[in-house]
Amino acid sequence: MAQYDGMYEFAVTPAVTNIRRRGVEIREVTPDSLGAEMELESGDRIIKVNGRVVRDYLDFRFQTAGETELVLEVRKKSGEDWEVELERAEGEDFGLAFEQIVPRQCANECIFCFCNGNPADARPSLFIKDEDIRLSFLYGNYTTMTSITEDEMRRIVEQRLSPQYVSMHATDLDVRAYLLGIDPQRADISSKLRRLLGAGIEVHAQVVLCPEINDKEVLTKTIFDLAAEYPRITSVAIVPLGLTRYNTDARLTRVTPEFCREVIDQVDQIQKQLHTKLGTNFALLGDEIYLRAGRRIPSTRHYGDYPQIEDGVGMVRSFNNEFGRLMRRLERDGRTNLNNARGTIFTGTLFAPELKKLIDQLSSQFGTQLIVEPLENSYFGGDVSVAGLLTGQDLLQARDRVNGEFVVIPKQMLKSDEAIMLDGMKLEDVSRTLGRPVHAVDLKELAKLLLSKN
Ligand code: SF4
Repeated sequence: MAQYDGMYEFAVTPAVTNIRRRGVEIREVTPDSLGAEMELESGDRIIKVNGRVVRDYLDFRFQTAGETELVLEVRKKSGEDWEVELERAEGEDFGLAFEQIVPRQCANECIFCFCNGNPADARPSLFIKDEDIRLSFLYGNYTTMTSITEDEMRRIVEQRLSPQYVSMHATDLDVRAYLLGIDPQRADISSKLRRLLGAGIEVHAQVVLCPEINDKEVLTKTIFDLAAEYPRITSVAIVPLGLTRYNTDARLTRVTPEFCREVIDQVDQIQKQLHTKLGTNFALLGDEIYLRAGRRIPSTRHYGDYPQIEDGVGMVRSFNNEFGRLMRRLERDGRTNLNNARGTIFTGTLFAPELKKLIDQLSSQFGTQLIVEPLENSYFGGDVSVAGLLTGQDLLQARDRVNGEFVVIPKQMLKSDEAIMLDGMKLEDVSRTLGRPVHAVDLKELAKLLLSKN
C-alpha cells in the first residue's frame, strides 16, 4: 500500500531482477554465537527447520520458537548442502541476522496510488506497490487483502501475524472497487475478513478519504460498518488523499481546508455516538485533516492508545506531549540558559506553524535562538506538505533562509539506513553546500544537540 505511509525503504530490487530463491539468506553471524558454533556464515541459506520449509525470517522465527532440538537444512554459500543438528537452551539466541523480506506487489490500480504521483526519475524503490501481510504485521503497512492467497490466510492465523492493517477505503463494494481500480468481486474481502476476525486476528482499518468519492454518507456507512466489528476491528484511521503535481487523474478532487472542516464536523458527531456505545472514538482522523482545517489537534484522551500513530494519526499530539516533557526536564535540570544554540529548523509547511509555537516557547524560556522555517516541497509539488517527503533540492532552494550555525531537519527526511534523501542527495553534500552542519534528528536528539552547544 503505497500512500504516504508506504514511503519506507527496504533493501529492495526492481521486480524483474527479483528471483525468489529457496530459504532465507543469512546476512550476519554474531561471533561466539550459536550460529557461529554451527559454522554458519553470511551468504548461507536456511532451507528447512525440522523438515518444514522456511520462506523468510518470520518462518525461521516461528519454526524455531520454543524448540530446543533442531535439524536445519542449509544450502552453503559454496553450493554444498548441510544438515545441522543442534540442541539449544530454551530461548537461546542464534546470533543470526537475515535478509530483509522482499515485498509482494499488489495487483490493484488504485486511482490515488502514490506511485502515480512520483516524478518519472524517482528512485525505483518509490515505485514499489507493496501489498504484503508480513510487512503489515511487522511495520503496519496496509494491504487491501484483494490478492491475498489461501497460503497467506493460513499463515496469518497459524503464525498469529496479528494485528493486520487493512485499507478498506469504503465498505460500499462499488465504491471500494472503483477506488482500487478492480472489479467488485475482487474488491469484496468480507469473507476473508470474517475468517481472520473469527480466528482472533486483530484488524486496524484505514480509509484514504477522496472528496466526492468515499466521503459524506459513504464514509458514515464505512465507519459504522467497521465499528460493528469492534473490538475485533480495533480502529479506523481516516487520512486525506494526497496529490502531487504529477497526479493529473480527472477523477480526483483535491482536499481543501473547507473539506477538512466538514469532515471534522461529520466525524465528530460519529465519534460522540461511538464513544457512548463502545467507550472509544474508534474512527480517528489523520493529523493532516486538523492542520489543514486550521482546527486544534485533539487531546491525548481522544487517541486512546494511539492505535495508528504511524499513519499520522495522533503524531502531532504525541510530539506536543513529548515536547512538554522535554521542557519540564530542562527546567528540572536548571538549564535556564541555552543561548549558544543558534540555528534554523526546517520542516514541512503543514507542521511548521505548530512547531514554531513550541520552539518559540523554548526560546523564550531557555534563551535558544532557533528559527523554524517551513520548507516547500518542490520535488513532488501539489499539496504534499509533510516532512517525510522533503528532499535535498528543497533544502538547497531555501539556502537564503538559513540563519545561525547549524541546520536541523526531521529525521524522516533520510532513508532509514543511510544519510541520503528522497532525491538521492547525500546529507554531507547538502551540509557542504549550505556551509553548515545539517542534523537530521528526532526530538530526543534535538535536545541533545541543544545541550551540546551550551
Ligand atoms: S495500487 Fe493501491 S494497493 Fe497497490 S500500492 Fe498503490 S495504493 Fe497500495
